[in-house]
Amino acid sequence: MRVPMLDLHAQYQTMLDDIRSEIEKVFETHHYIMGAQVKEFEEKVQDYLGIKHAIGCASGTDALVLAIKALNIGEGDEVITTPFTFFATASSIWRNGAVPVFVDIDEDTFNLDPDKIEAAITPNTKAIMAVHLFGQCCDMARIMEIAKKHNLKVIEDNAQGIGSTFDGKMSCSFGDIGTLSFFPSKNLGAMGDAGMCLTNDDELAAGLRQLRVHGECPKYYHKWVGLNSRLDTIQAAVLLRKLDDLADWSESRRKNAAFYNEHLAGIAGLKTPVIDERAVTIYNQYTLRTERRDELMAHLQKRNIGCAVYYPLPLHLQECFTSLGYKEGDLPISERAAKEVLSIPIYPELTDEMKSYVVESIKEFFN
Ligand SMILES: *Cc1c(COP(=O)(O)O)cnc(C)c1O
Repeated sequence: MRVPMLDLHAQYQTMLDDIRSEIEKVFETHHYIMGAQVKEFEEKVQDYLGIKHAIGCASGTDALVLAIKALNIGEGDEVITTPFTFFATASSIWRNGAVPVFVDIDEDTFNLDPDKIEAAITPNTKAIMAVHLFGQCCDMARIMEIAKKHNLKVIEDNAQGIGSTFDGKMSCSFGDIGTLSFFPSKNLGAMGDAGMCLTNDDELAAGLRQLRVHGECPKYYHKWVGLNSRLDTIQAAVLLRKLDDLADWSESRRKNAAFYNEHLAGIAGLKTPVIDERAVTIYNQYTLRTERRDELMAHLQKRNIGCAVYYPLPLHLQECFTSLGYKEGDLPISERAAKEVLSIPIYPELTDEMKSYVVESIKEFFN
């Protein structure tokens, strides 16, 4: 038996004809840049998430860069964020000339620990960038409370959490701007790069729409310097079709997780994911924790089970951020998580046999 970490072909086969005909429509009109499907997809996401404005762009990374620009955050400003995330979270701050200020995470959820945010606020702090890691929404009740108290902007990096909720409210709808990634391995994946900004604020939405086309308004007149970062029409056409199945996929991922939770419970030395009872996760990843991580990983690989470490080195210790002055030991919870986490296959098309094989292989290791 072989269980890959992700099987995009299995998903594609369920909708192959539909996707081909959606792409064919783009070929017939030749509106490759900002074709009708882009607006159609933006409106469909607005409805799905219940957020007023969706602004498609070229990637989840660009969505973050655009969000920071739209909020006028730059040189000399500080943005509080988590070190236990994908690189783009912090690089988007850096690339705008602002300073990422890393705050440690919660031991259980791997998300930014609200209790540690206030100590990191300085007169230069402009925003908090929360990341809904592995598909679980942060404690946005606390984060919004802190942001309001200190007059800070909030960006939700929701690249991994489309459709997740906290206190019954959709991720991306708490802060000033939320961002999505449609990188192929995300829960809603394009067939290439794609991303999006979400906001309920009319003015920010207008700014984001200008910034994604070089900051122009009207055409050939530039109030500010933006990016060339549009959502490709072909990708929008693919995503339009895929969005129809997203809710079902999220449900399947939760069912797979429930199976793992049940069968991996009570194994000494192994911790299954902890989900806050106020949160509904979409399980972009199902992440185990064990001090014997590297051994477990080798064992699963030998048994042809895909698994991966997200993420092996926290961002405050990355070479490119040396000038920020962090050193090992500064953010111990993130550092320990990086040594102990292991994500296993959770994608919707996993069969019962595959899940049982994964569970048996893990049990075999700990026995
Ligand atoms: C994937 C991801 C991004 C970047 O998205 P791209 O579409 O790959 O540019 C940003 N933040 C997080 C947390 C991600 O997982």
